Amino acid sequence: MRLLRDEALASGDAHLGTRFWIFPQPPFIPGYEKPDRIWLPIPRDEIGEGPSDATMYVVDPVQDKEPYGLDRLPPFHGALRLPAAPGPDRHFDNLSPDSRAFLPVHAYACVHFVLNIWQSYLGRPVRWFFDQTFPRLEIVAFVNWDNAQAGYGFLELGCSDIDGIKRPYALNFDTIAHETGHLILLSETGIPTSVSRGGDFFSFSEAFSDLVSLISFLHFESAVDRLLRRTKGNLLLYNELNRFAETSPESQIRLATNFRRMSEVTREVHDRALPFVGAIFDSIVELYHRELVERDCADIRLLDIDLRHLEQDDFDRFRQATAEAFRIKPMVFGLALRAARDAVGQALATSLPSINPDTLRLDQVASAVVAAAGGQAAGVLEANFVWREIISAR
Ligand SMILES: [Zn+2]
Repeated sequence: MRLLRDEALASGDAHLGTRFWIFPQPPFIPGYEKPDRIWLPIPRDEIGEGPSDATMYVVDPVQDKEPYGLDRLPPFHGALRLPAAPGPDRHFDNLSPDSRAFLPVHAYACVHFVLNIWQSYLGRPVRWFFDQTFPRLEIVAFVNWDNAQAGYGFLELGCSDIDGIKRPYALNFDTIAHETGHLILLSETGIPTSVSRGGDFFSFSEAFSDLVSLISFLHFESAVDRLLRRTKGNLLLYNELNRFAETSPESQIRLATNFRRMSEVTREVHDRALPFVGAIFDSIVELYHRELVERDCADIRLLDIDLRHLEQDDFDRFRQATAEAFRIKPMVFGLALRAARDAVGQALATSLPSINPDTLRLDQVASAVVAAAGGQAAGVLEANFVWREIISAR
């Protein structure tokens, strides 16, 4: 890595971090055409061209590259496009988000954005599980392949091809966050060596990665704001929250807003992940409602009713009450959603070190998440895991 220095850095504000653009949802989703400007907490003189730093670097192959596999691992040795360079102020928000050269910069920013969130929840840096072999993660910005994958030392991004319209996953925050989720989980639990019969490691890995995507998405101020304005604070309408699965690279429709229980799913890993994802999503919504009720922004009856079997009359009544409160104090709704998001995200992250990847079962993880939650979040999570038949009622 080449360290970059100039006079702007000498002025002393280099430690404030580095600016990037991120699209919280791919730009073809209506309402998300413009990216957000975000700050990564990395000093400008620690990010080299590529971008690259001490923990990761991006490569952008000139020609079609074979996807990595068991017998094909990084580093990539082929010809590369010219590496992306920062502007004269050493920030990376200099490139036009429409340009081809923007892809590696966006992919890099997304991986760091997600990593920062989960490191905050974990309370320490994530050490890559492959760091004995590769000190840094290689991000491949573009592979001509309808998939995205993360593996031993790499995260590579292809492009979706729907009706002949190609869309690079490097612009898809959901996809990048999902793949980063796989890397975080493996780095926290270690690689499974022999998953036992009936072991759930791979199902949990899909669930966790979808949740990393969902919870990280809720860290964009603009996304929370837009979501709440569009729904007038009523998350029973869901909307954006489940869009993260829409262009899933694994071509599975894995909605967080599903109603599946363990007795209704197969052993296929994505299918088996659904009840866990649903339990966590419902817990966020329920904790959000509790926060709203505590702050006098919602009807207290919202907490006693089974939201999965809501009658139209009740729904309309709740919607109207919430919309009225939202019109007067929208900020409180943002606070409530962030509090719910963090209670659940924190519990999920805290549970990770107790997981043995070889013997992991979904009921054990669920119990660990409940134990890590504490307070009213524990009760809400437990009830939702019970409803999903992941754990039994005590
Ligand atoms: Zn996955």
